[in-house]
Amino acid sequence: MNKIFDYIDLNKLLNDLVNFLNNKSENQNAFIISGFKIKKLDEEGVIFGISDELILSKSNSLLQNTVIREFFINFYNHDNFIIRAELIDFLSESPDEVTFDSETVLTGQKTPDNAKKEVSFDINQPNTEYAFHNFVVGPSNEFAYASAKNVAKSPGISINPFFIYGGVGLGKTHLLCAIALEVKKNNPKSSVLYVSCETLINEYIKIIPVRNYHEFRKIRGVDVLLVDDVQFLAGKEMFQEEFYNTFNALYENNKQIILAADRTPQQIRGLTDRLVSRFRSGVMADIQLPDLETRIVIIQNLAKKHGKIIDNRIAEYLAIRMNANVREIRAVFTQIFWLSSINKREIDEKLIDEGLNTYFPNQEKQRLTPEKIREYVAREYNVSIEEMLSDSRTQNVTLPRHVAMYLIRELTDKTFKEIASFFERKDHGSVIHAGTKVGELLKNNVGDEEEQKIRKIKEYLIENFER
Ligand code: ADP
Ligand code: MG
Repeated sequence: MNKIFDYIDLNKLLNDLVNFLNNKSENQNAFIISGFKIKKLDEEGVIFGISDELILSKSNSLLQNTVIREFFINFYNHDNFIIRAELIDFLSESPDEVTFDSETVLTGQKTPDNAKKEVSFDINQPNTEYAFHNFVVGPSNEFAYASAKNVAKSPGISINPFFIYGGVGLGKTHLLCAIALEVKKNNPKSSVLYVSCETLINEYIKIIPVRNYHEFRKIRGVDVLLVDDVQFLAGKEMFQEEFYNTFNALYENNKQIILAADRTPQQIRGLTDRLVSRFRSGVMADIQLPDLETRIVIIQNLAKKHGKIIDNRIAEYLAIRMNANVREIRAVFTQIFWLSSINKREIDEKLIDEGLNTYFPNQEKQRLTPEKIREYVAREYNVSIEEMLSDSRTQNVTLPRHVAMYLIRELTDKTFKEIASFFERKDHGSVIHAGTKVGELLKNNVGDEEEQKIRKIKEYLIENFER
């Protein structure tokens, strides 16, 4: 057995491969491969993990690329090693890139009694992709972002604990890792541990039979503890007890605690009251779905990173159709990029439609309801439904309210009266007024930003829903 394979960091290896391909001007393949994982490297060859079936089906020819073989030949003294790909589920795996299991407490010199198992954190080693500068900030995440920056700047001082919550693929793990990277950059000696809650629980379960609690309690020696996906605490009473003590030990020593979950502490089923109140005692920040502008920037950044410039109009076209989480936007973009690179085609509207159709094959269209329209318009203008229903007359609320009323009238069979009561208004005059206003805006401002936005929203609703 060639032990050497056991010591290779597969995340770093993937990074090296991507750089290698870029240096050989294989930028498109580098981009596609950067979305893969290296699952295994052993005497026989290398296995890539791919989360997307469509991409998997096309990847085997890509992986036979001679430059990729050239890279791996460093590990083999014969030509017969195999390079292949398998489907993996990224979502259920621990987050990639900057992942450290609990054995890799990222230590500084401050905690000498933590010796033995720990490895020191090498800032150059993890994929620095999850850094602050790669995080696109918009109304959906600016509070979480600003708080995260603040925590990273002065850990243990101003915000403690810091709790981030929000749906899947919205950047929670990204922010956690960004904090870890930044703290380490500012203070290389501090010990920082990023760990998923699941890993922590598994480590704990392992030590129960041998009663080696001391081993587990080493994490009380870190300066910054970041625990991802704490919704996994649900129903784990025994572990909750341990975690409560860990929390207190760190907190009392002014050590920074950062937590992320897909829901609020109150919503985590079976979380003990005292943990709920601890988790809520600092700052809580939520992350929402990105609004249109943010999605456009995310798409532009993805393109730019891989040496493509795409027209703003095209980015917007895709952004409007991808009203989804960032993980999904990235996946669809990869799909489109893939199509463009294998067919040597420009990224245009047609290609985007094809990409979306292959990514979401024969999706059944949902029915267009007033709720859907109101919700979609609210999201596009970044106002809440409550604001839409309120009496507020500020322009940034009246416009979306008018647009929603107008579109409901245009695209559904609801009467003025019904629409008025749908917006909690007694008088349907306001709906008629809204219709006139928006109608005029569309007529008199052809081509300007507002007009285009409304037109795009309308197009989107018509195309994506059944009427
Ligand atoms: P979560 O942990 O909330 O499920 P992740 O942090 O894993 O989500 O994000 C999913 C993907 O989307 C990652 O590749 C991440 O880098 C990217 N991402 C999420 N939010 C942003 C953002 N605001 N700007 C740039 N990339 C983002
Ligand atoms: Mg995550």
